[in-house]
Order: sequence, then structure tokens, then C-alpha cells
Amino acid sequence: MTSDVVIRPSGRKFSVEQDESILIAALRQGIQLPHSCRGGSCRSCLARIINGEFSYLHGPPIGLLPADGPAGRVLLCQAKTSVDLEIEVRELDPGPGISTHRLPCRVQRMKQLAPDVMALFLKLPSVEPFLFRAGQYVDFLLRDGKRRSFSIASPPHDADPLEIHVRKVPGGRFSGWVFGECQEKALLRLEGPLGGFFVDEKDARPIIFVAGGTGFAPIKGMLRQVFQAGLKRPMHLFWGACQEIDLYEDGLIREWVGVRPTLRYTPVLSEAAGQDNWAGAKGWVHQAVLEEYPDLSGHQVYLSGPPQMIDAARADFAAHGLPEDQLHFDSFEYALD
Ligand SMILES: Cc1cc2nc3c(=O)[nH]c(=O)nc-3n(C[C@H](O)[C@H](O)[C@H](O)COP(=O)(O)OP(=O)(O)OC[C@H]3O[C@@H](n4cnc5c(N)ncnc54)[C@H](O)[C@@H]3O)c2cc1C
Repeated sequence: MTSDVVIRPSGRKFSVEQDESILIAALRQGIQLPHSCRGGSCRSCLARIINGEFSYLHGPPIGLLPADGPAGRVLLCQAKTSVDLEIEVRELDPGPGISTHRLPCRVQRMKQLAPDVMALFLKLPSVEPFLFRAGQYVDFLLRDGKRRSFSIASPPHDADPLEIHVRKVPGGRFSGWVFGECQEKALLRLEGPLGGFFVDEKDARPIIFVAGGTGFAPIKGMLRQVFQAGLKRPMHLFWGACQEIDLYEDGLIREWVGVRPTLRYTPVLSEAAGQDNWAGAKGWVHQAVLEEYPDLSGHQVYLSGPPQMIDAARADFAAHGLPEDQLHFDSFEYALD
């Protein structure tokens, strides 16, 4: 049995199978709605119900707030319905020809970037063009049906091979495999591109990029893309890491800054203690942003990294005047098997 969902204000319509997530149904039919974790925690897929009833696939998701129900707000990644629905949500436009599909790929090359970060360079089938926006991510499809999300560090104009940065997670299935068993020529399956984390090139505001750890991966792709597009907007990259060794592409960024007067760079270390020679910013990366930009009302911000960093930054940036629609983020939520 299927139900119809109408999106406002666009009026576009899609169908949902019973017991299927509304978000997944939309993506399956080529309708790009905002999302990130797909596990009910990051709140990127928040929408408003105008008409109709819904329930949650696995009970109330962890990202749901007490005020959401009374306000008619729903987290689409976890919601299902058995009746026709009318919802209000912003649709994303990644661009012509960009749609999510599954494809095999081969590990062409591996490069250890830091003690716990490995770059994978993936060769995709040449018969099938893989179109995406810089900043989007892919899901690796594991043999037992589980999936793991990783951002694309390449820009679309230089995506062969496709670059991915994998941080080693203690006990992590996929990252453990990458660091332990993966070898060049290994075969993987992925689904992508996914997500709505890409630069709004039409806007003219100065951009602040904030990365935490491997949150630098999508931002690397975005920066290379905006350089390629010739964007002249002022841009400031803040990169937060534990120690200097974790700023695994610091040299590359400094080279960019040397030749691009519109780009500024502030690395921030949270565990600088014991690093006597570190003269740069210390503490939490989002606080370093606020020290430099106490009024964010005229900026556009792109944030990616660990969920704790995203949550803290979202709250504090809003309190410092950042309009809600000028905050774009990808929260590196852990896979919810
Ligand atoms: C949209 C998106 C993009 C992402 N992009 C990247 C990326 O570019 N690079 C990257 O390194 N990661 C990225 N992540 C995070 C990555 O998908 C998760 O960390 C994933 O769970 C790692 O898979 P794994 O199999 O290695 O570990 P799992 O088997 O999933 O995890 C094993 C255990 O560790 C916990 N855990 C998992 N990840 C972390 C963590 N980061 N910190 C602390 N505990 C953890 C889990 O809860 C679990 O208990 C992204 C996540 C999302 C949602």
C-alpha cells in the first residue's frame, strides 16, 4: 500500500510505501530533501506537517525535541505514514543530472594522512559518469547490508579518482577494515551522491568554513570547487583538531592562502597543551570563530565534523546572529546499525 506526499511550496508529489521512511522514499524518486545522518539525530531533515498523520519507524528519534510535536514538526528520515500527507520543506537543487545511484568502485591508491586518517582514492566505472556537488557524501554498502557514510573530498572537476578521508574509529567496522585489511585494488560498493551540503554559489555573503577533524574532507572539495568557479567572496577556514599532527593538510591550505587573497585560515588546537611551539589558536574551533566574528548576521557558514562540535556551534552561532538559513552543516553522526 502506498500513500502520496505533497511538498509545499513546490507542489511536487511522491509516493511512500508503508513502513518506508518518508525521506528515503523522496530520495528514491529523485526528490532531494535536506538530510545528513539519516539516523534521526542531526535534525537536518526537519519538516512541517500541514495535513495528515505520521508515526515514527522506531519510536521517537533521539533528535526530536519536546516542542516539535506540538509545532507539527517531523524528522522525515525516521517518519512513515499510511495516509496522504502534505508537508512543508525546502527542496534542494543539487543541479541537472545529479541523482543517487549505486555503483562499484576500486581502491586505486591509499595514503595515510595522519596517524588515524587514511585517504582512499577510488576508481569509479568510466561508463557511468558520477555527477555530484562538492561537499556531498557517499555511503559504502557493506556485505551484511550495513552502510557507512563518508564525504567526498574531491571537487567534481577533479574526481577521478574520488578522494575520501577515513578516520579510524576504535572498534569501527569500516574504518578498522580500511586500516587493517584494505589493499589497493580492493572492490567496494557505494551509493551516492547524498546530502545537501554544498555551497550556495548565488549568494554574495562572506563564507566561514568550520571543519572538525576529517570534517575537512567535504570542505576541501568545496574550496577547490569555489576556486575553480572563480568565486571572489571573502572566505575564512577554521580547522579544529586535537594536535598539530591532526591538521593533516595544513601545508596545502597554507599554499592556497599564499596565492588567494580572498582566503584566510585559522587552525585551532583543542589539545595544544604540551605543544610548546604552537603559537596559534587554542580551544574549541567554534569559539575561535566567535572570537573573530562576534556578529555573524552578515555571514554564511558551512560546518562539518563531529556531532558535538555541530551541536555546540549551531546553538552559539544562532545566539551570535547567524540566520538559520545561512547555516549549512554535515554532522558526522556514527552509523546507527
Ligand atoms: C554525512 C556523513 C558524512 C561523514 N563523513 C565522514 C568522513 O568524511 N570521514 C570520516 O572519518 N567520517 C565521516 N562520517 C562519520 C562516519 O560515517 C562514522 O564515524 C562511521 O560510524 C564510521 O564507521 P566505522 O564502521 O568505522 O565505525 P562503526 O562500526 O560505525 O563504529 C564503531 C563504534 O564506534 C562508535 N563511533 C563511530 N564513529 C565514531 C566517531 N567518529 N567518534 C566516536 N565514536 C564513534 C560507534 O557508535 C560504534 O559504537 C560521516 C558521517 C556522516 C553521517
